Amino acid sequence: MISIKPVECNLRCPNCYELVARAFAPASRCDADKIIGAIKEFHKKSPERGHPPCLHGGEPLMLPIGDLEKFLAAIFDLYGRTSIQTNATLLDSRHFELFKKYKTSVGVSLDGDTPELNRSRGGDLAAIIGNIKRLRDEALAPSLLVTLWAANASAEKFESFKDFILRAEASWGVSSFRFLEGVSYERQEMELSPDALFEAHKRLFDLCDSGRRWSPYREIVDMMLGNFDVVCVFQGCDPWATSSEQPVFADGSQGNCLRTGASADGVLSLRADRESKLRSDVLHDLGQRWRGCKHCRYWPLCMGGCPGSAFSGDWRNKTRFCGAHRNLFWHVEKKIKSLFPNIYLSQDLKKRAAAATILSSIERSTYKFEGRRNIKELREKEEKAKAQAGKFYHGDSDDPEWRRQNPWWPRRGKK
Ligand code: SF4
Ligand code: SF4
Repeated sequence: MISIKPVECNLRCPNCYELVARAFAPASRCDADKIIGAIKEFHKKSPERGHPPCLHGGEPLMLPIGDLEKFLAAIFDLYGRTSIQTNATLLDSRHFELFKKYKTSVGVSLDGDTPELNRSRGGDLAAIIGNIKRLRDEALAPSLLVTLWAANASAEKFESFKDFILRAEASWGVSSFRFLEGVSYERQEMELSPDALFEAHKRLFDLCDSGRRWSPYREIVDMMLGNFDVVCVFQGCDPWATSSEQPVFADGSQGNCLRTGASADGVLSLRADRESKLRSDVLHDLGQRWRGCKHCRYWPLCMGGCPGSAFSGDWRNKTRFCGAHRNLFWHVEKKIKSLFPNIYLSQDLKKRAAAATILSSIERSTYKFEGRRNIKELREKEEKAKAQAGKFYHGDSDDPEWRRQNPWWPRRGKK
């Protein structure tokens, strides 16, 4: 997904991973034509991609209102909707009008509703919360991006943090949440330890019921069940051609996610011309003592995690939150298997298995031993389906029995 990324920000939070990029980024005027050209080019190359480009920062509401409207209009023309991520400190009536006109989903970045919980960000909390409520009143269904730090999600703070989340949901009209591990290059003491991060994730996951759309918990369940359209940190990200985050900067140049690669050293516009799997291929085979992921049961889900949070700040290593990921995956797996003991999940199949394969694993019974399918049989079935891919029409089958019962169904190439 591409994002329109003016790097400048009015808050300049002390932990922001863009501090280095910001220090080195040349101050440049916004080149609206180049940015719109990049949006159109991206759409031409990947028209099937459903996610509209996101206006992201720094703080995108620092853009002149005229430019902001041009970008929203260009994205709306191509995708029929738009999206923005903002700290919600600069919103005024003109923005609300634009958001309604261009069907904008508005994500607000906020780590707590008290100065203590929101220490990593700052800003006028009364104004931010007022703006979130106004988004609700204007039927703009705001979502929250919440970063987990020692200041808000440690064991001692968790109860107040939980109250903040439940308040935002019940009283401010927040419809969905994304919880992200805080990463700081300069002040790693602000981060949660892997154990503390796991505790916070576990408690949030356990709250995630009654249809709550909380990321990354829903996405972890999705991956285990064979659906991999998920958040970037589980996609085996290439730091030199980040595919989930393809920023277009104010001057129209393109680069990588500012969390990693050369961006973390202040070089913004150095992007490889194609994506490589080199980092994940090496991590897959590299022993754990060398900060690789060899033999990890959850490799098909995690693939080493975000290179921006790699051990020692070296993107080649796996994420330093490995312990938190692994324990969280285990916690989720136990929950699913307590309900469906006979199910085989992606990690059982040791691959990013298709949803159809996972679902067929509980064909006969969810729990009876004699109703359990054989994992070898499942793997073979999936391999066979893969080999047949593209050879049959959608809905077609290579099953001889099905063919016998449906002789009328056309084969590819036959009228
Ligand atoms: S560096 Fe991390 S945050 Fe950035 S796109 Fe890659 S996985 Fe996502
Ligand atoms: S959980 Fe840890 S070892 Fe397993 S894939 Fe993720 S980072 Fe690698």
